[in-house]
Amino acid sequence: MSENLGTFRADSYAFLEVPAAKNFIGGEWVDGPSETLEVINPRHGKVMSRTPMSGAAEVDAAVQAAAAAYADWRATPMRERAQVFYRLRDRMVAEREALAWLISHENGKVYSQALAEVDKAVECVEFGCSLPNLAAGTQLDVSRGVNCQISYEPRGVVAGVTPFNFPLMVPLWMLPQAIVGGNCFVLKPSEQVPLSVVRLAELFAEAGLPAGVFNVVHGGKAAVEALCDHPDIKAFAFVGSTPVAKLTYGRAATAGKPALCLGGAKNHLIVVPDADLELTAENVVASFTGCSGQRCMAAANLVAVGEVDHIVAAIAERAAKLVPGTDHGAITSASSVERIRGYIDRAEAAGAKVIVDGRAKKGDEAEGYWMGATVIDGVAADSPAAKEEIFGPVLSIVRVPTLEAALELEKSSAYGNASSIYTTSGHVAREVMGRVEAGMCGVNIGVPVPREPFGFGGWNDSKFGHGNITGWDGFRFWTRPRKVTSKWALQKDWNWMS
Ligand code: NAD
Repeated sequence: MSENLGTFRADSYAFLEVPAAKNFIGGEWVDGPSETLEVINPRHGKVMSRTPMSGAAEVDAAVQAAAAAYADWRATPMRERAQVFYRLRDRMVAEREALAWLISHENGKVYSQALAEVDKAVECVEFGCSLPNLAAGTQLDVSRGVNCQISYEPRGVVAGVTPFNFPLMVPLWMLPQAIVGGNCFVLKPSEQVPLSVVRLAELFAEAGLPAGVFNVVHGGKAAVEALCDHPDIKAFAFVGSTPVAKLTYGRAATAGKPALCLGGAKNHLIVVPDADLELTAENVVASFTGCSGQRCMAAANLVAVGEVDHIVAAIAERAAKLVPGTDHGAITSASSVERIRGYIDRAEAAGAKVIVDGRAKKGDEAEGYWMGATVIDGVAADSPAAKEEIFGPVLSIVRVPTLEAALELEKSSAYGNASSIYTTSGHVAREVMGRVEAGMCGVNIGVPVPREPFGFGGWNDSKFGHGNITGWDGFRFWTRPRKVTSKWALQKDWNWMS
């Protein structure tokens, strides 16, 4: 399958080892520093590979390689740049299953949910293919004989940093718009899941992307700080937790870069008594258990308005039947399992009722990091289980008497990624959609991701910076609008005009 992934040929969950990840700089695979971090397959709890923990020197080498490639790449017509993404798409589709297994092994999500990630990553690439049709710019005669036109120019060398939970898709939230836009990119993937990006870099090369246009530097905090600080990096994007999003936003901005940094979430699903029972129960459970709740769009708080016990019972019944390892995957690390259990224990100790208890559930490989779906009823509105991001397959049910109280609760959250309403009333849906404090909202849908071409991005502490990371906004972020105003005077000595 791959020059760097050795014998990796997964077609099952059976444990496989993969050679240590290498950095990809200027079209060459280069060993990183000797300090490495273990890449652990969460399903097995065993070391499957290693990540080199690069620092400022490796970041600088990647920036120099990107800078060297920039003049040719920006001079390449946009249609030709987009052609690389057509070829990349074909390759990704051709090895859809292999990519999904790779994601599943390094991230721990089940194969079906990894396949869904590949499909959404392909959609992002397809959006990149369409960019030449959208990026034509515009022009207007702004006064007699004076014309103004706008075009979108690349920024130069740009950088992105991504989280563990979508090893392939989140990098592809950034790369098509940035690279079709004419930039050269340095990506630092999560040190927990470096391998999908290794294969992506190989696929880019196979698709004909010139050396140096896409570079990968593996590592953690030191590499990220070097990317924020590097004077030759002209824009910086980040997706990860809120504390790091805020830190990197500040650091990159202090270094004079435009920055767009997406953070964590605490998503509210408001359920009112007229909600459809079956649709709501199925949808809520899929939302909080998909990818084991390790999604920034996962349901976190179910805000139960008035008498909705029948819906809560249906949610609990469905959630209790889910089998870790089959219906949803492993948790990313032992410390995450501990953190998630801690939230449940504390909520229970404070008087909430754990009506579905996944704390002791294991997957089929007992050594991995596991948690079953958990539903906690009667969670206090101001408790950690209702306020903080748990990032596991846990649904906190907060009971409120009225829709007004539900909206107050939703508004009190520091985050603002997603909010949904479950109702059969158009009036209620409109009222809630007009008032929630969230950037991505759903009506009878628990994971309201605005797929391409709509832009992905939350509000408040879920995002620092302007605009969305995907869709057209992403293209605007990675480019600079150039306005050209032209006036051509009529020469007095021309006697051949009329
Ligand atoms: P994380 O913040 O721990 O790590 C993300 C990236 O930041 C990694 O590449 C990591 O190497 C780097 N990093 C970590 N600590 C750092 C530090 N102190 N200084 C500089 N860089 C640092 O996030 P994670 O655990 O990988 O991912 C889960 C989080 O990401 C959740 O909070 C989730 O909600 C969020 N997320 C948000 C979105 C979104 O679109 N808003 C999408 C996916 C994930």
